Amino acid sequence: PVRLVWLRNDLRLTDNPALTHACRDDAAVVLVVTLTPESWHAHGESLARMGLWNDQLRSLLPECERLNLPLRVLHLQRFADCAPALADLAQQLGAAELCFNYEYPLNERNRDAAVCRALERVGVSSRAFHGELIIPPGQVLTGQGGMFKVYTPFGNAWRRRLIDFDSPVIPCPSARRRAVCASEPLPADLDYGAIRYRRDIWPVGEAHVSERLNTFVQERVQDYARKRDFPQTDPAGEGTSRLSPYLSIGALSPRQCLAALRAENDDPDWLHSSWLNELIWREFYRHLLVAYPGLSRLEPFRPEVEARISWQQDDPAFQAWCRGETGFPIVDAAMKQLLDTGWMHNRLRMIVASFLTKLLRVDWRLGADFFMRHLIDGDFASNLGGWQWSSSVGADAAPYFRIFNPQVQGEKFDPNGTFVAHWLPELRDIEPGKARQRPGAGSARGRPEPIIDYKQARQTALDDYQSGG
Ligand code: FAD
Repeated sequence: PVRLVWLRNDLRLTDNPALTHACRDDAAVVLVVTLTPESWHAHGESLARMGLWNDQLRSLLPECERLNLPLRVLHLQRFADCAPALADLAQQLGAAELCFNYEYPLNERNRDAAVCRALERVGVSSRAFHGELIIPPGQVLTGQGGMFKVYTPFGNAWRRRLIDFDSPVIPCPSARRRAVCASEPLPADLDYGAIRYRRDIWPVGEAHVSERLNTFVQERVQDYARKRDFPQTDPAGEGTSRLSPYLSIGALSPRQCLAALRAENDDPDWLHSSWLNELIWREFYRHLLVAYPGLSRLEPFRPEVEARISWQQDDPAFQAWCRGETGFPIVDAAMKQLLDTGWMHNRLRMIVASFLTKLLRVDWRLGADFFMRHLIDGDFASNLGGWQWSSSVGADAAPYFRIFNPQVQGEKFDPNGTFVAHWLPELRDIEPGKARQRPGAGSARGRPEPIIDYKQARQTALDDYQSGG
């Protein structure tokens, strides 16, 4: 028989359950990718992330060739085109089965359901796997059988549940006896525009990715809890793993992260390590997306909170935020880091998101969309979760309205002002320390004056939230 494996955000040969299933016997296997630029654009897929996706896929091709796994490339426009095109291809190749790994946002699930129906109509079966998660959605539930609404009890239940899903990393499948067709070339730009990203910071290929993971768990994970909140200027010195772009395109699976953490760590308490905790956050946001389909339609998790906030249509303020010209050094430096590298440190994501939604009172959806269009690790579930959390409309236990003071955050997490001076060269002449975090710092050298008065903006936000808009 011939089987098809539809590759999406699971660009790896190791620990890829859909691929392993397709290769379970001596069947011939054909890989297929669907290029859907119109839908990618509508979803705000960044050129950086698609560039990484493209390069990672390309890096797998020599090994695919060796394994006799040819790649077919379907040039389409929209998700809706996938069903007829895959049904045609399956018929053309005489395929009996299509295998893929689930994606959880609603549009992706609808696309996949349509594909399965179209294939069924032509007598081809489909099989899907949860390769993107350690524990599948719907398997971590409250005592009443519902989804958790806040993180901490979810995390505890997830740790208890792990024993039932604790399977080893799946090795790369063995070579097929023959390739049933030739590979098609992957276009340089994926039909999606000129792809450009910092290849120096984000190398691709299974070897590079596993080296990054191994170096992190061998040398840096012990210091993670202490260093994770302090952004660095040198990417290699970052306290966090910087693996998110690879997890986002599936060059790496969360199970591989978990396995590496355990293999390299003699801490018997690995289950409670703070790094694993972040991976569990990633699982939490995906489980939420499946349990609450409205989230995929950008509905807030807590509509009663959003109802109290009156979003401002302040385009100049939003544009200043986008360009990193608010006059608040830590906010602006963070935005410059995003624009230049496609990545932003987690602490900074929280600071800039709080600034946009609380102090400028711009709708979180605009910030989330801007992030998706620029992030190299853009991930619908985590981005949505992060933005809803930051704007207090998300799955969060905090009963109060949290507003970060950007100056205080800067003083705390970039105490010498090294990070801000790296991204805002006008600040380099200012003595290292608190002076570099002052709103309006460097204005004599061309930095903007602060676009808001923090105290006033904070009070307006609180009044708005308390009075109900
Ligand atoms: P590490 O600290 O090394 O963590 C390991 C992995 O755990 C990460 O690679 C990531 O996959 C996961 N993770 C870590 N923190 C979180 C978190 N808070 N929520 C969910 N997963 C997490 N993450 C994305 O992957 N894509 C996004 O589009 C995204 N948008 C965000 C938007 C906002 C407003 C906020 C506040 C957070 C967002 N995050 C997003 C979460 C987090 O900032 C990044 O995952 C993290 O900075 C990635 O860096 P790292 O790989 O060094 O993380």
